[in-house]
Amino acid sequence: MPLPFSQIKSIVGDDNLLRSPEELHCYSFDASKMRFVAEGVAFPADGAQISALVRLANEHRFPVYPRGSGSGMVGACLPQGGLVIVTNRLNRILEIDADNMTAVLEPGVITGDFQKAVAKHGLFYPPDPASLAFSTMGGNVATCAGGPKAVKYGVTRDYLLGLEMVLPTGEVIRTGTRTMKGVVGYDMTRLMAGSEGTLGIFTKIVVRLIPAPESVRTLTAVFSNLDCAVTAICEILRDRIIPSTIELMDQPTICAVENHLRIGLPVEAEALVLIEVDGPEVVLDGQLARIERICQKAGASRTEAARSDEERNRLWQARRSISPALGQIRPGKINEDVTVPRTKIPDLIRSIRSLAEKYDLTIVCFGHAGDGNIHTNIMLDRKDESERLRAGKAVEELFGIVLELGGTISGEHGVGIAKSPFIEMEVGGAGLDAMRKIKRALDPLNIMNPGKMFVSDRTFLEGSFV
Ligand SMILES: Cc1cc2nc3c(=O)[nH]c(=O)nc-3n(C[C@H](O)[C@H](O)[C@H](O)COP(=O)(O)OP(=O)(O)OC[C@H]3O[C@@H](n4cnc5c(N)ncnc54)[C@H](O)[C@@H]3O)c2cc1C
Repeated sequence: MPLPFSQIKSIVGDDNLLRSPEELHCYSFDASKMRFVAEGVAFPADGAQISALVRLANEHRFPVYPRGSGSGMVGACLPQGGLVIVTNRLNRILEIDADNMTAVLEPGVITGDFQKAVAKHGLFYPPDPASLAFSTMGGNVATCAGGPKAVKYGVTRDYLLGLEMVLPTGEVIRTGTRTMKGVVGYDMTRLMAGSEGTLGIFTKIVVRLIPAPESVRTLTAVFSNLDCAVTAICEILRDRIIPSTIELMDQPTICAVENHLRIGLPVEAEALVLIEVDGPEVVLDGQLARIERICQKAGASRTEAARSDEERNRLWQARRSISPALGQIRPGKINEDVTVPRTKIPDLIRSIRSLAEKYDLTIVCFGHAGDGNIHTNIMLDRKDESERLRAGKAVEELFGIVLELGGTISGEHGVGIAKSPFIEMEVGGAGLDAMRKIKRALDPLNIMNPGKMFVSDRTFLEGSFV
């Protein structure tokens, strides 16, 4: 049955509904490179319109797919027919309460814009996905996004106080509080962080803020041995310094970036580590000196501290150039965001080297070493069937290794469609069944973002890549 377009139009207005194949094509992708097409795309103006659309979906039994900026890496916002509901018109910051250090905002606000707005009040919203220039706060909550600063400041769920949301039945509820404390009933807010649009559509978000750090210092350290790099990282944290960032690049990554930039990176090194501390100006130089001493004691062959913004940008240049550098190795990649306890990083990277050899693939590892979140990029040309099949096997084996090491198959990107066949490996049959029961209780007609998390069909997954 076609969607009830005239009723959808009467809710959102003529100008806020797309139906032509060209327009639908624009909403058939996210950053996963999979492609699925909707029957319509609606741009509601507020929570009341979203609620009306979801009630209509229940009445006519069509699926709805919440979407922010479509920057997700696992196809979590992609439709299979039905109606995509884009939140970008709900883009107001409703309140910044500088005294209580909280803010209320709509889900379509861009993360980086929100950070800039609170900075004007001397405040700080730390979650910093690398996509913050274009991802939405609604998408960040739905994926529980995190970034380099997670090692010190945590991820989206650590700042989320409450939500207003439209349930899959169309009812509107408020979860959580505007206070730091609040223990009334089940913690629905925390359940929603990372729910990937399967349990409802957020229409207002309440977050806590913290005072902005006064200053920042940056240092890089070069290690010829990966174990020494990880020893240094653990020692720094044991020495009661919590850096705001600890980023690591392995040797294949260093070589790829050097080939791309030609800036004299140490291509013979096993690890390049970038460390940042932030806080009161008076303590930072002392902390940086202690970090430098620890790195040298652990075996760093070279350390370099930035003394100015220009030097800091130069130190970050290598880290920021990874994506374009990788594009020169192969036309495509599978970017996994596995996470292990940080002491296990050397074991993980050594196992990945063996996988690369076994399956004759180039695999580069880099990422947030402070919290053990290692982006594992399996480079491939999707048109090369043999390479694609080998990469698929390497992914499954990688997940097994990560779980053996006590880690998780996704630290940042979530499950969506891409990791759906593997979720049971981590949470187990009973764990997945408990999640299914929650989904069924809140969404008895399976209206809200179906086809995510609970789909185990790998053939369907394989055929969807472009
Ligand atoms: C270059 C690049 C770098 C990235 N770096 C990081 C990183 O460092 N850390 C990280 O965590 N992620 C990263 N990501 C992934 C992505 O940006 C995040 O997952 C982000 O939170 C998605 O936001 P979005 O607005 O694009 O959401 P979308 O991709 O549109 O949707 C993502 C999920 O959120 C749901 N959703 C969106 N809005 C709502 C709403 N209002 N209510 C309920 N559900 C909703 C969707 O249904 C879907 O399940 C990166 C992506 C790219 C392309």
